Amino acid sequence: MNKKKIAWLLVLTMLLTVGISACKKTETPPESPSNEATKMEETAETGLKDGVYTGEATGYGGTVKSEVTVKDGKIADAKVVEHGETTMISDMAISEIPKRVVETQSLAVDGVSGCTVSSMAVKKSLEKALESAGADLKALKKEIVKEAVERKTEEKEADVVIIGAGGAGLSAAVSAYEHGAKSVIIVEKMPFIGGNTLRAGGAYNAADPEVQKAQGIEDSIEKHIEQTYEGGHKVGNLDLVTVMCTNALDGVHWLADMGLEWKEKIGSVVGSKWPRSHQTEKPLGTGYITVLGNKVKELGGEILLNTKASELIVEDGKVVGVKAEGIDTDYTIRGNKGVIMATGGYAGNPEMVREYLSDGVYTKENLPEKLVSTNHPGATGEGILMAQKIGADVIDMQHIQLLPMPGDRFGPSINVEDSFFINKEGKRYVKEDGGRDEICLATLAQTDGQYFMITDAQIVPENRKTLSGENLDVLIAKGIVVEADSVEDLAEKIGVPADALKETIDTFNGYVEKQEDPEFGRTVWGKKIEKAPFYATLRYPALHHTMGGLHINTEAQVLNKDGKVIPGLFAAGEVTGGIHGDNRLGGNAIADIIVFGRIAGESIMK
Ligand SMILES: Cc1cc2nc3c(=O)[nH]c(=O)nc-3n(C[C@H](O)[C@H](O)[C@H](O)COP(=O)(O)OP(=O)(O)OC[C@H]3O[C@@H](n4cnc5c(N)ncnc54)[C@H](O)[C@@H]3O)c2cc1C
Repeated sequence: MNKKKIAWLLVLTMLLTVGISACKKTETPPESPSNEATKMEETAETGLKDGVYTGEATGYGGTVKSEVTVKDGKIADAKVVEHGETTMISDMAISEIPKRVVETQSLAVDGVSGCTVSSMAVKKSLEKALESAGADLKALKKEIVKEAVERKTEEKEADVVIIGAGGAGLSAAVSAYEHGAKSVIIVEKMPFIGGNTLRAGGAYNAADPEVQKAQGIEDSIEKHIEQTYEGGHKVGNLDLVTVMCTNALDGVHWLADMGLEWKEKIGSVVGSKWPRSHQTEKPLGTGYITVLGNKVKELGGEILLNTKASELIVEDGKVVGVKAEGIDTDYTIRGNKGVIMATGGYAGNPEMVREYLSDGVYTKENLPEKLVSTNHPGATGEGILMAQKIGADVIDMQHIQLLPMPGDRFGPSINVEDSFFINKEGKRYVKEDGGRDEICLATLAQTDGQYFMITDAQIVPENRKTLSGENLDVLIAKGIVVEADSVEDLAEKIGVPADALKETIDTFNGYVEKQEDPEFGRTVWGKKIEKAPFYATLRYPALHHTMGGLHINTEAQVLNKDGKVIPGLFAAGEVTGGIHGDNRLGGNAIADIIVFGRIAGESIMK
């Protein structure tokens, strides 16, 4: 095999690893135009008539409208002119896919890994526009033949090298600069930054007694420590738990100083156990990634996208750098102070999850065969494997978390106080403010392992956008959320007995009035469910979080199997283990990644 062919095989392998290993669709990150090496197999007769055409399709946040200009029988221009997709997550799909259609004169372009729904909507809207232009769609969808790209090698050097540009990695980068770093390089295997942090519900737990008191909530750092440790059934490391809970509020202020806008109201998300979850004004985790990403840029940090770290470089027992594969370049990157591993968890890799299951809340026996994952496609765990290869210890790998709702079915709200849950018989079966393990195990025992979250008009904001930034009307049109003018109508639409649902709502509203739940012991209360229209969202457990990972100390240094520090190797975020025990509280992961990301950035510069 000649050198060129080998190089192309490597490109292909990398793209496939990134795009397919964790993604449902065969998607690859779009190359930058300079690397673009694609052409139609042959100049097909496409039947295009000159003019300007528009096409529409439904995306995540509503209608995606594209405009295509045809000149001299060719696609001269294409762009998305209207959309309600979530900023940052969909940006690449919105900007890159139309460009690639023009460059390749083809509709057979790849979507963007990590934003499947938006990619599909953009492609569909372009297809509709081209259909109006009289295109022979079959010809336009002909497979694109990719030409081989010559691989290059490049050596780079910085004070600090970070693997993974999610919340932990970006926090570590900012912190490293704050503690004297002159240069930071982050390698990120996806086409855009953010990882799971970008698509998180955004809840950040921190005891903030002063603000909470004004909202009638009693709280303290000690209570946060106690609930985190006990919520994880005392499996977590109390020192790490204490560090996280003690520094969480400082992290809230640190982010605010960088420009993050927090919502005034502090609430509680599913499984958070207490109303101490801070939410940002921006949807999902986009607020965190925007301010952190901007700060890293402002400080001069370099982020290599589409670049997958494959190996840690060790010299004389110290981690001194990393090898990484970009689209057309093999990098050797030296970190003078060392390397911070911030590659996130592996709940997007069901095989790896199952491999480690043993005696946690979920076992090989009780974990359902078929499970969807809420995670982004890059959450595949190779950071853990890379570190293990050089002797790192892992901890709590058998402990995973299911979320009592799949990522695409958050519905109108993720706040516990806004809703209650019923099974398909129309009855409550669990306390909605219980631990995620409690709710999921109880749900798996119900008919079809599913439940409905019931809520009402009082939680719908004027702009009809849900907490996760989705358009409620799109969710209703897609059947993800069911809307009804009466309880009876709702029961009929979701197929549960109307009298049972009516009785459940009346009983629940009685509990709200007394702030007491003699059946299941719920303690977090909001308003009664009584104002039409009423809403139901079908939900079921999904693979969500991996509590196990690299064994670290309170300085975010990675330990080996003898409990000794591995010089030069630090880790932060979901790639680490030992904090959340066997059940993480909802809202504690964002606190974890910010607190330990900052610590890792400081420690590496010491
Ligand atoms: C849908 C969803 C909702 C959630 N909601 C909440 C919430 O409201 N509150 C809360 O506390 N927690 C929530 N979580 C959990 C929380 O978001 C994550 O635990 C946290 O964001 C992980 O941050 P991280 O920086 O460790 O990893 P990530 O944010 O996932 O970042 C890791 C990055 O590393 C990159 N990477 C991986 N391997 C490599 C490699 N080999 N080379 C280069 N780059 C690599 C990944 O592509 C990724 O960008 C949610 C999670 C999900 C999936």
